[in-house]
Amino acid sequence: MTRPSAGLRFATVLWDGQATLVGVLDVAVVHLGAAARALRRGRKDVKTTGALPTDMLGLVGGGPSGLRAAKAVLQAVAHCLSDGTWRTGPRNPVVRPLDRTRFLSPIPRPPRNIFCVGRNYAEHAKERGADVPTVPVFFTKPPTAVVGHEAGVICWPATQNLDYEAELAVVIGRRGRDIPRARAYEYVFGYTIMNDVTARDLQKKHTQWFKGKGLDTFAPLGPWIVHKSALPAPHALRIGLRVNGEPRQDATTGDMIFRIEELIEVLSAGMTLEPGDLIATGTPSGVGAGFVPPQWLTPGDVVEAEVEGIGILRNRIVAPGR
Ligand code: MN
Repeated sequence: MTRPSAGLRFATVLWDGQATLVGVLDVAVVHLGAAARALRRGRKDVKTTGALPTDMLGLVGGGPSGLRAAKAVLQAVAHCLSDGTWRTGPRNPVVRPLDRTRFLSPIPRPPRNIFCVGRNYAEHAKERGADVPTVPVFFTKPPTAVVGHEAGVICWPATQNLDYEAELAVVIGRRGRDIPRARAYEYVFGYTIMNDVTARDLQKKHTQWFKGKGLDTFAPLGPWIVHKSALPAPHALRIGLRVNGEPRQDATTGDMIFRIEELIEVLSAGMTLEPGDLIATGTPSGVGAGFVPPQWLTPGDVVEAEVEGIGILRNRIVAPGR
């Protein structure tokens, strides 16, 4: 359903055992720090001066100069690859194959809880037997819930009703409070995908959603962050989810009740948003709880959340202790 994501993409990956900021190209990932050093050594015509961010939070909150430096390095490497000066290799110190990459969450440890929006698609509110809200319904997930692309989601003994929710997640890039909707996108760095994994029985039992949505591994994020320049129309994207290849959710971000600019306006009213904050914008219909009978996730299931222009976030459900 999706065209390959293009434009500026950044990820945090495990590189020789270290969490490392990389730029993402079509079939390769680029160690930005190592690339800058190699370019400085080998190609004096490439301008890579300027403070290159060393991790994702530094990039996201680093303003235009850090982004410019990262972009210059990435473009120079893309050029070196296309003219054959450099080659991708699994042990290469600078450029490695995308398909051999182990992704961490793009922001491995968000500085604080992830902001989430409940019931932001009318069809989903209906399938949950709820009214369509007139104001955004906010809740949060703790940083300890975060995992990356291809990580296991643990089916904890605390739940018998494990469910999925594909969501577009907004990455805040600039500190601000009382942000008017007309200026909201100035505060956005980019976008990623979140699976708002939910224990439906705990969600119901504890009334407040935090417990049922806050368990460890219940916030897969990634695989990468697409800079906003590559997604100028974030409300014209197909969003979907598959379980073991079977389509479960298929909608468009245009169906959101409260759009990104309104969410930012309402959330930031009297409350400071900071670089690295994440806003998960809600899920469309098709969650497991909406089926008759319900379709709960069990160990071995493979869940793929997909957002057009970003990519596919894939996670396997696993039993505890594996
Ligand atoms: Mn959700």
